[in-house]
Amino acid sequence: MTTFVSENSYMKKIRITKQFNFETGHALYGYDGKCRNVHGHSYKLSVTVIGTPITDPSHVKLGMVIDFSDLKKIVKEEIVDHFDHATIFNKNTPHIELAKELMGRDHKVILAEYQPTSENMVLDFADKIKARLPENISLHSLKLQETQTSFAEWYASDNQSDRSDRENSNLYI
Ligand SMILES: [Zn+2]
Repeated sequence: MTTFVSENSYMKKIRITKQFNFETGHALYGYDGKCRNVHGHSYKLSVTVIGTPITDPSHVKLGMVIDFSDLKKIVKEEIVDHFDHATIFNKNTPHIELAKELMGRDHKVILAEYQPTSENMVLDFADKIKARLPENISLHSLKLQETQTSFAEWYASDNQSDRSDRENSNLYI
């Protein structure tokens, strides 16, 4: 039996995920565990967007929610290029002195307005990615893995009242 599926017969939502890797150093000032020391993680970030596959037969992206390469470009420009082989510090702690010393020696440093935990980083990433997505595509979720067994997740459904126009909480150097 042959089953025909018309591309126009339904408008189902599909989730698309792309995964990224980057190496970032951090230190948690005032924390009572090992992450208070300057060290790095091999972060793994999964970015999931949701939308409806394009049904216009004349569209070059026919059948796609978003071209994987377009999603890659957004996340690379907004996150990976900044965070890879950088060290992130909470600028509102005495670590600002260490950060300035490293910056003076031409190190790649990110001064954040927040404690650089996976939780806060994933919140920051959500704002940055949402600001770049096309109108018909929504950010569904983010998963940031700090180690093989530890990760933080952001879900749009958990943050319905989130204001997407929240000002950037980061200053890149
Ligand atoms: Zn750590």
